[in-house]
Amino acid sequence: MVSRKKGALFVVSAPSGGGKSTLLRKVISQLPGVSISISYTTRPPRSEERDGVDYFFVSHREFIDMVSDGKFIEWAEVHGYLYGTPRANLEKLMQGEDLILEIDTQGARKIRQEFRNGVLIFILSPSLEVLGERLRARGGDTEEAIQARLQYARKELDQVAWYDYIVINREIEEATKELTSIIIAERCKAARVLEGIGGKYGKNNG
Ligand code: 5GP
Repeated sequence: MVSRKKGALFVVSAPSGGGKSTLLRKVISQLPGVSISISYTTRPPRSEERDGVDYFFVSHREFIDMVSDGKFIEWAEVHGYLYGTPRANLEKLMQGEDLILEIDTQGARKIRQEFRNGVLIFILSPSLEVLGERLRARGGDTEEAIQARLQYARKELDQVAWYDYIVINREIEEATKELTSIIIAERCKAARVLEGIGGKYGKNNG
């Protein structure tokens, strides 16, 4: 049987408050064979967040020890806290499952350098005003933290040009459809399918 051998690696970046988590949850509920990598962070959990589900919440010391032990594929400081993608999560790819890394533009740049086949997708809010409204509606952040996140979002916008895809999150159903379509299209890329076929269509397999 012809099947893909390795899973595809996706990076999804969006300014926080861009609706990325809701969108990704919808995508994985509709599309089998894809999962989201859970990062480690030194940021304290928000009220609705759970350890091991949204993030693995660790102390600064624990995080630095993991860095020294080479446990992360990439890590970065964002809004004064450390965030990192554990190397162990890449095992999903070897099992043929697609993996989404929900990381910032610094992390995306590192993944682009190390994993040439990685697909970079940026989720854009319709405007910074809408982003500000969404951040306030989410609650839990002070006005100062919200302003810092908006400032960071402005900086991130300069990075969007080197992403492979941009999804504008005007309306959740439409954005879910676009993101799902990108993943499905990438699965059908000739290079990926041919890598999976390998010997099955080789000279000796008639
Ligand atoms: P938040 O604190 O709102 O959950 O996330 C803040 C930012 O950190 C978001 O842009 C998010 O994508 C990014 N982020 C989350 N996990 C990681 C990670 O493992 N690596 C990097 N580089 N960024 C991350």
